[in-house]
Amino acid sequence: MPYQAVIGLEIHAQLLTATKVFCGCSTRFGAPPNTHICPVCLGLPGALPVLNRQAVDLALRAGVALGCAINARSVFARKNYFYPDLPKGYQISQYDQPLVGRGELRVASGDHTVAVGITRIHLEEDAGKSLHEGLADASDRTSLDYNRAGVPLIEIVTEPDLRSPADASAFFEQLRAMLVWIGVNDGNMDEGSLRCDANVSVRPVGESRLGTKVEVKNLNSFRYLRQALEYEIERQIDLVDSGQRVEQDTRLWDQATSRTITMRSKEDAHDYRYFPEPDLAPVDVDAARVERARQALPELPAARRDRLMVEFGLSSYDATELTRSRETGDWFAAVVAAGAPAKAAANWLMGEMARTLNDSGLSLADSPISAAGLAGLIDLVERRVINSSTAKEVFEKMWTSGATATAIVDAGGLAQISDEGALAAAVDQVLAAHPEPVRQYRAGQTKVLGFLVGQVMKATGGKASPAVVNALMRRALERA
Ligand code: ADP
Ligand code: ZN
Ligand code: MG
Repeated sequence: MPYQAVIGLEIHAQLLTATKVFCGCSTRFGAPPNTHICPVCLGLPGALPVLNRQAVDLALRAGVALGCAINARSVFARKNYFYPDLPKGYQISQYDQPLVGRGELRVASGDHTVAVGITRIHLEEDAGKSLHEGLADASDRTSLDYNRAGVPLIEIVTEPDLRSPADASAFFEQLRAMLVWIGVNDGNMDEGSLRCDANVSVRPVGESRLGTKVEVKNLNSFRYLRQALEYEIERQIDLVDSGQRVEQDTRLWDQATSRTITMRSKEDAHDYRYFPEPDLAPVDVDAARVERARQALPELPAARRDRLMVEFGLSSYDATELTRSRETGDWFAAVVAAGAPAKAAANWLMGEMARTLNDSGLSLADSPISAAGLAGLIDLVERRVINSSTAKEVFEKMWTSGATATAIVDAGGLAQISDEGALAAAVDQVLAAHPEPVRQYRAGQTKVLGFLVGQVMKATGGKASPAVVNALMRRALERA
């Protein structure tokens, strides 16, 4: 029997505030353990939380960017459970009255578009971190670092609208891009600032009721998300096919064995004894504040993408690539503003620039070539001062030396030779040296033209204008 997978995601994103959500401690990652703590985030007696306004504004920004309804009043709630990394014995979260309600994000996945409903977005605090490894006494004790306790998070919950691991991964990727684009989250999955829990069930195709779901916790890469879902879907189908039932539980992805393993049986909301947080007032957000959040949004990826297609005539592929991050989009705009034609700017950014950044493990912000510098190089190609293979060489030299394209071309005598008189001799020499290809060309095997042109390029140290050589060569071959 064919089955359909049903997937809903819960994504935790750390908000880019300087301080924690209920106290003034720093949120900076990587500090020595337990140096960013105070009575409030440690839950010491008598300490009272004070809500960070900036955290609310960032959560609102995420809400409006995802087209969500904003709730005029939301309420913090205590989620009670014991775990050593949770010093208060409860997490301050939001429960039945979250800050942000329903919305939608449409994402591209392969050749189709998926509209994924956002159920809600709520604000909460992060827990601390248990350290099981790397310390001298790790074999007989667990150490605790509370620096992360109280760091502001949003949890974004989706509707069970996803139907495949590939779509889920595309959604997570594009949601991440959106959060980074609007300055809400740094997108750093290795440091744990963005994590995903995946809920998944299977049902026979055509069935409208949902199957029993399993939750796989804490997936911190797109690949793990996809692999965990693929494994889990297969496991569930095997169970159902062999007449067994899927048990509702909470699982972990084990990279070492490429399997999901059960962590605990699923807890229910009532296990957490949620109740309204008595130490914090409800959050009232008036229409003006929502409007300010909306006004403050930058142009969003989808709008930017459409504009690139309309304004510059770029293909949908190019426009999508150039809006994968705001940095790329803004860089493209800067190269074009410095005078480069859009298509050439797009090709250089997605080609040579992307490849070189990737090889050196850098991001655009660290590029030794500026947007104006790249526009200068493109200009030399456009004006046919250099040909495109020389341009790649010049790009490399710009990268390592920081010099301008013009300076490099002048110093190296790299300007291309377009003068027909200067090239005619080289063409004649090549023709004389290669009688066999010449004969083949004249016998109708015109493919050999490429070889002959290549010989002239070689003879001129790559500086000949390929267009001029082509024309001269054709003329010479067809003359006889
Ligand atoms: P819970 O009560 O277990 O927290 P929720 O209804 O709040 O469950 O949903 C949590 C997440 O699980 C949401 O992302 C939702 O879309 C997803 N989800 C709910 N039911 C299913 C299901 N049967 N199969 C797959 N995902 C589901
Ligand atoms: Zn603190
Ligand atoms: Mg729930």
